[in-house]
Amino acid sequence: METMSQTKKQSFTEALSNTAVGFIISYISTFLIFPLVGLNTSPGTNLVIVIYFTAVSILRGYVLRRWFNKKATKPRAERVTYPDGSDYKLQCFECEIDMPVKKIENNYFCSNCGLRH
Ligand SMILES: [Zn+2]
Repeated sequence: METMSQTKKQSFTEALSNTAVGFIISYISTFLIFPLVGLNTSPGTNLVIVIYFTAVSILRGYVLRRWFNKKATKPRAERVTYPDGSDYKLQCFECEIDMPVKKIENNYFCSNCGLRH
């Protein structure tokens, strides 16, 4: 656990620096790696390729960050069982039968319709 977390502005500055440095390193690298694998390209073509992969990288970073943030904040649903391992069931007024329950942060819900008990 970090004791001091970044502000949103600091995070943005870091992300921007990371992207800018990555862009420059990638562009220089194209002049090294492309001839090594037998590609004869112009500096302009290299630039287009680096711009493309930079855009893909930014999008990938954004999508993964949103996905992990969502996963981290979503409380996990736990299965509730008797000591013998069988499902603990409660009468659900919506399903009108006994249904297994799931527990999310000390609240119990019907595992079928999601009704809170
Ligand atoms: Zn139900």
